Amino acid sequence: MSYRIFRVSCVPGVRALDKAESAYSPLPAADILSTGYGRDVTPLCESQEINMSNPVLVVHYHELWLKGGNRRFFLGKLFTALRQSLQGIPVERIEQPGDRFIVRLGDRAAVEEAIKRLERIPGVAYYAVARPVERNMEALCAAAWAEIEPLRFQGFAVRAKRSDKTFPHSTMEIESTVGRTLLENLRARGREVRVRLKDPEVTCHVEITPGPLLVYAQKIPGMGGLPPNTAGRMTCLLSGGYDSAVAAYHMMKRGAHLSFVHFYGTGAQPGESSLHIASGLARTLVPYQFRAKLYRVPFEAIQREIVRAAPEGVRILLYRRMMLRIAEAFARRDRALALVTGDSLGQVASQTLRNLVAVDAAARMPVFRPLIGTDKMEILATAKKIGTYEISSEPFHDCCPVFMPRQPELYASPRELDEAEANLDIASLVTQGARGATLEKFAFTGGRVEATEPESVLPADQSHAAIA
Ligand code: ATP
Ligand code: MG
Repeated sequence: MSYRIFRVSCVPGVRALDKAESAYSPLPAADILSTGYGRDVTPLCESQEINMSNPVLVVHYHELWLKGGNRRFFLGKLFTALRQSLQGIPVERIEQPGDRFIVRLGDRAAVEEAIKRLERIPGVAYYAVARPVERNMEALCAAAWAEIEPLRFQGFAVRAKRSDKTFPHSTMEIESTVGRTLLENLRARGREVRVRLKDPEVTCHVEITPGPLLVYAQKIPGMGGLPPNTAGRMTCLLSGGYDSAVAAYHMMKRGAHLSFVHFYGTGAQPGESSLHIASGLARTLVPYQFRAKLYRVPFEAIQREIVRAAPEGVRILLYRRMMLRIAEAFARRDRALALVTGDSLGQVASQTLRNLVAVDAAARMPVFRPLIGTDKMEILATAKKIGTYEISSEPFHDCCPVFMPRQPELYASPRELDEAEANLDIASLVTQGARGATLEKFAFTGGRVEATEPESVLPADQSHAAIA
């Protein structure tokens, strides 16, 4: 793989660089970038110089999903996600020297914010804040020592990656020189340590890239998963509770792009509506995929109709079937291929195995339930980690417990629910739900989430044809 900074020395009209100092000369980024060479460097802000003291983030991804011909597609998506996510932060460039990305920040103060953003990019396996170092062995050893000294361990290793072949020392030389220096320093301080090449507790990483050398020993786990928007579209039924927001997170982590559908009670007192909770959750989730739609469906009239025309014990299950049907209509509109809910096996009466199967029979699309095998405690821990816990903890008017049956059915069958719906005009209830819906759109740009004013989904006269 080639590097723009290296190639620049061969480009006519650009100042030729002395080989020894070429890769870290303070060359204005604009000079480098205007040559149009290579695809592995991207400017994110106005021309800046490579600054030796500016921090650098080394971003790693898992190799598993890179097998075969999809490599370019996935890496392209991850690269786009890095760029989009870091918008508004001074970044000199993003490089891709082989199996990782290197983000050169333009300002020391940007590290904290950049890390916050990195933590919400699916597909990032782990990352490190690296020390930029002058291109000589002495400086390298000193930086490696500064990284390693505060850490407690017994076995360590040094691993070098030499993607800039102009550096005069081989990988082996770098690893053994730095390793020996570290070992001597540690032993001189009375520390009982040894070099352990297999399964070391601590690894000091050295990256020989054009520009400053990079040293780091602490890898920070990212969120893992697959890069955003790589797995296709799905529609998530987003209540105001804890579970469905966490379910959404799990699917986005696997690269799904979600639209959200929220059903709200129209009879709520002012200030009690669940709409602001659903909006708050969508806002918190949108950074994982950059854009999202939230369909807001008034549901109380539909619930009243179910209460009027169906047996009491299966009400909640019929609410859920109607929710799935209406969500499916929006899914078709967005060309989504599956639905997502936050059900967890046996959590409440409507989530027994039989009830889940009986509810699903109303849907034509697959219904994915990423939380099906998780406990509430695990769900709450994730909600806290991703920042939806506080929002879901706010009091709001939940439409589902309205007209709660005294004795909910625990073991419904699809046939029983079909029969319970016999006196309902399903098609017109779906149309009613879809027509009454409003749409709020969210976008995550420059580190901020912007939302549009809720608008009608379609002009009333078109909604039936397009949605039903
Ligand atoms: P919690 O159980 O933490 O209160 P929840 O989101 O799981 O929250 P449940 O009552 O368990 O709520 O509902 C099961 C699933 O049904 C939800 O995860 C969600 O996918 C869907 N759902 C329930 N109510 C609504 C709603 N008002 N709008 C959209 N989807 C809903
Ligand atoms: Mg639940």
